[in-house]
Amino acid sequence: KIRVRYAPSPTGHLHIGNARTALFNYLFARHNNGTLVLRIEDTDTKRNIEGGEKSQIDMLHWLGIDWDEGPDVGGDFGPYRQSERRDIYTPLIQKLVDEGYAYESYKTEAELEAQREGQKARGEMPHYVYEYEGMSDAEKSQAIADAKAKGLQPVIRFHVPTDKSYVWDDIVKGKIDIEGKTIGGDFVIQKRDGMPTYNFAVVVDDHLMEITHVLRGDDHIANTPKQLMIYEAFGWTPPKFGHMTLIINAATGKKLSKRDESVLQFIEQYRELGYLPDAMFNFITLLGWSPKGEDEIFTKKQFIKLFDEHRLSKSPAAFDQKKLEWINNQYVKKANPSLISDLALENLIEAKRIDATPDTKTIEWVRQLVALFADQMSYTQQIIDLSEIFFLEPPALDADAIAELSTDTAPTVLKAFQAKIDALEIFTANRIQNIIYDIQHETGIRGRKLYMPIRIATTREMHGPQLAESVELLGKAKVLAHLDETLQ
Ligand code: GLU
Repeated sequence: KIRVRYAPSPTGHLHIGNARTALFNYLFARHNNGTLVLRIEDTDTKRNIEGGEKSQIDMLHWLGIDWDEGPDVGGDFGPYRQSERRDIYTPLIQKLVDEGYAYESYKTEAELEAQREGQKARGEMPHYVYEYEGMSDAEKSQAIADAKAKGLQPVIRFHVPTDKSYVWDDIVKGKIDIEGKTIGGDFVIQKRDGMPTYNFAVVVDDHLMEITHVLRGDDHIANTPKQLMIYEAFGWTPPKFGHMTLIINAATGKKLSKRDESVLQFIEQYRELGYLPDAMFNFITLLGWSPKGEDEIFTKKQFIKLFDEHRLSKSPAAFDQKKLEWINNQYVKKANPSLISDLALENLIEAKRIDATPDTKTIEWVRQLVALFADQMSYTQQIIDLSEIFFLEPPALDADAIAELSTDTAPTVLKAFQAKIDALEIFTANRIQNIIYDIQHETGIRGRKLYMPIRIATTREMHGPQLAESVELLGKAKVLAHLDETLQ
């Protein structure tokens, strides 16, 4: 039975790259009727942030990802937070020390730093040099006893076999072969504070949690040989590994880094702007994975059915802003209008366009307003700019608009429109549209010469959504005021 895990470190909010890892593990598990485990990798206590775990869990749920085992839902393989598993790690680290696979290292940070500086000065790659080199067992024991007597705290290092290669058949990348001697020397598996390092804890947990497949970002490729060494030392069978390619910004061709401000990178930011979770699920799934064919819009159910880990892309995934907007727009157009209008209402309140506790009339008005613009939106916060004319003092007309109002027919149209609007009691789009038809019949003016002056005079813009609906939503008072101003 397939068991996979998503293993975030609570060092920040949910990043788009991590969301993608979570999503692929989710799809892989669901496609195979397997189990998805959520494991919190919080051993690097200095980097954890307050609320990081909760925020990540909330955003995973928002995206529509759920899991079968984890700190919040329990399960038979817990605890699911590494900080709560120290009792599991400590004896296993001791076992490696007792069997000679690992050892106490008393070099201080300052000594290690001096060593690295010296290596750099000699043009060497900085690496750890075995501190008991050439010592007999007795000498080594003596050195350790002396360090202990001085009250020094050790780290535990793993003895890296430098005469061997570590090879695996990567699900995404194919055969990968890394020589032990290239990984930078004996690495730390337990820190001075007694916490295991990531590379150690991940092996123990993946083994004890019976994980069958590890799908993660290819920034972890350099860690995999270290993990394979630890599996080997314990005599455990490693899971299958798959390392997903990085995400690049399609606009710059560069790796999507947290410093790249041209792209929103945290899921929370998308939620706040009123992007739809199903649309984000769809977009992120296509970052580095694609089904056969040309289609780009799929439901979660379809993705689960179609998911095939062998179709994970070998080349970098391009984050394409246009595609993001396009996919999201498809979902906004299809969505239940009341869902969109509820979200847009929040955005309008947030922007102080609307009172924080709107009455039912206002809510209904917003519903109509949003319907007018939904086709143009990729996320609901766009309503704020799109609907500016309904809230703000209109800007001065530009030269093109003035030219449209200066034709010889424009005054005829506008005067007729003003008189009829003034007399209109039931102010609805239907009636307003009928007024426009009447003017066409009465004056013989049609098309652009009819609509453009009315649009500019009422909305103060040359382009916008359906005219009659816009006029209705502006309301009679505002429309008359704008007409007055124009006709002066
Ligand atoms: N905690 C690691 C990370 O956030 C997980 C790596 C792994 O999946 O092994 O990058």
